[in-house]
Amino acid sequence: MNTHEYQAKEILRKYGVPIPDFRIVRNESEIAEAIASLGVDEAVVKIQVHAGGRGKAGGVKIGSSRSQIEALAKSMLGMKIVNNQTGPDGIIANEVMITPAISIAKEYYIGCTIDRKNACASLIASPEGGVEIEEVAAKHPEQILTLPFDLHVGLRNFQLVRLVKFMGWEKEHAKVGMKIAKALTKAFVDCDGDLLEINPLVMTKENEIIALDAKLSIDDNALYRQKEIAQFYDPTQVKESELRAHEAGLVYIPLVGTVGCMVNGAGLAMATMDMINHHGGSPANFLDVGGSATVEKVTEGFKIILDDPNVKAILVNIFGGIMDCKTIAEGVIAATKEVKPEVPIVVRLEGTNVAEGKKMIQKSDVAVITAEDLSDAAKKVIEAVK
Ligand code: ADP
Ligand code: MG
Repeated sequence: MNTHEYQAKEILRKYGVPIPDFRIVRNESEIAEAIASLGVDEAVVKIQVHAGGRGKAGGVKIGSSRSQIEALAKSMLGMKIVNNQTGPDGIIANEVMITPAISIAKEYYIGCTIDRKNACASLIASPEGGVEIEEVAAKHPEQILTLPFDLHVGLRNFQLVRLVKFMGWEKEHAKVGMKIAKALTKAFVDCDGDLLEINPLVMTKENEIIALDAKLSIDDNALYRQKEIAQFYDPTQVKESELRAHEAGLVYIPLVGTVGCMVNGAGLAMATMDMINHHGGSPANFLDVGGSATVEKVTEGFKIILDDPNVKAILVNIFGGIMDCKTIAEGVIAATKEVKPEVPIVVRLEGTNVAEGKKMIQKSDVAVITAEDLSDAAKKVIEAVK
């Protein structure tokens, strides 16, 4: 789950990361008061959306007088940005941050994420932070330092020493830099983050190190114990289809291909997508109906998949382990009768009572193509797309 910049900043501030003062406004009538209480004549106005790249998209602007700041904030409330992080529908800002303008001497990047390859958490840092960080990572990997750390131990002292050297921080700056890195890793672990980053962390012209941006996304599986962060869930920042899936208790991740996938379990979803790719197709989504798929869930799943105009065929690949294939067959039949999809559907069932389940589908008058195994299913669905 993603959060807003201001929410991430509030968390980081509690852990001791230096964050400049800010105000959040949600409607025009709050703007003048917010500027007055900040007490500055030069401020940066920033849209609050669940996407990065705001600066490049015109969502971060500096105002050099109170009236200019006010005008900027007005123009940014309700502003929509479209970039590679938002998808083609874009994303709307319902909240805007007003924060003092900082004179920047240098921008750094520092963040924590899960390093899946090495199965541990990592701190990633660069002395070349800012809005071009992706380009730096691609073209100058030597400018990026990765420090793996144990969730229970955090960064070791020798790693902190390496970090401050790499960033070029000396004396007092080295101390502050180490403190920030420790705070960041602790907050990341405590929040069950999958990403917590500060970009840019800056050296001001007054020689102070402070965080000008923050981004936190946390593992959905930890929401049950992250009650405070769970309250930050902002349905206005989530795509309509994802919202519906969320409400129905389904995991739905839209992708860019043409084969809609309905599966149960993330492992099976991965295998299904791999197999589709292997046979020359491309998945349009990842929809996991979970271990307890009911007729209602399967029906809602079909509706969500079919809302995507790119879907040219659907592959239902369900393993009846905890569930019975008869229940799944019942769900598929009922759902196809209700939703009446206009695209071909390929069904591959395996597991408990598979023979009965298949028989039920064959006997019903729904037009689905049955498949023998995963490879057969992938081939058939790709054929159906054509
Ligand atoms: P995004 O990463 O979404 O583009 P940022 O908050 O990082 O948004 O802002 C983009 C750039 O704007 C930063 O890299 C920084 O150069 C500048 N910026 C952001 N906040 C401030 C601020 N308070 N004062 C001065 N410059 C800022
Ligand atoms: Mg940024």
